[in-house]
Amino acid sequence: MTLAEERSIIGALSPSRAGDFMTCPLLYRFRVIDQLPERPSPAAVRGTLVHAVLERLYDLPPEARTVAAAQDLLEPQWERLLTGEPEYAGLFSSDEERDQWLTQARSMVERYFTLEDPRLLEPAEREMYVETVLDSGLLLRGYIDRLDVAPTGEVRVVDYKTGTAPRHDFEAKALFQMKFYALALWRLNGTVPRVLQLMYLGNGEILRYAPDEADLRATERKVQALWEAIERAVRTKEWRHRPSRLCDWCDHQALCPEFGGTPPPVPDHRPGLSPRGGRGANQRRAATDEL
Ligand code: SF4
Repeated sequence: MTLAEERSIIGALSPSRAGDFMTCPLLYRFRVIDQLPERPSPAAVRGTLVHAVLERLYDLPPEARTVAAAQDLLEPQWERLLTGEPEYAGLFSSDEERDQWLTQARSMVERYFTLEDPRLLEPAEREMYVETVLDSGLLLRGYIDRLDVAPTGEVRVVDYKTGTAPRHDFEAKALFQMKFYALALWRLNGTVPRVLQLMYLGNGEILRYAPDEADLRATERKVQALWEAIERAVRTKEWRHRPSRLCDWCDHQALCPEFGGTPPPVPDHRPGLSPRGGRGANQRRAATDEL
């Protein structure tokens, strides 16, 4: 990105942070404005591990992509994650607890094979970083788990979740993340993805959606309105807390009025253009990303 382009950018949003603001503006504030540290959770790290295994599975030649081969990737990928993030070692109080957690990850990897046959697929991209700037100057960015491109050129965007599929009335929220990616891809290369596919490895369900241009225009308006709401909160320093079942996963209960806490004064920091980085400590999956 050139300096001139960077100067015209008004801010940046990823689907996860947009989802945070929609869930609870105060949670967004704690994560983006205060940049408070969060402890890694077993559910989030399990998500990272399963994603890593499914990404590496496609390094193997098609005929070698079996359940056993995928499960053989679990231990080495866990060791690799531990090397990069040694604090993960403290996630478990005993070897037994760690083994139980690994068994759950193993089941999820096995369940993946009940949903599709990786021997018949050749992804075009894995862990693909996408970034695009809307006309308004808002930069959209994020990581797409997998992109499949058919010989006809039709595109399928795939996201793995280690949680369970949402109830019907929560599907729209789950699909927002996928439409966000579809919008970014459409703005990047002018093609509307044919299918958006969420694969829930917690219970073995798939949620599919075929977007059209009208959907993506509506998503752009929604993303834009979200950004305006974020800017308003920055200006007024009013960050409402909005309790929901996701509070169970929130690391900031001690500072949240819902739990008797008091948020610290808002720091003088705008939600701007932090460097992209990889999926390192600052861009870890949150447990809520896996739902
Ligand atoms: S505990 Fe719940 S209401 Fe409070 S900041 Fe976290 S998500 Fe928001």
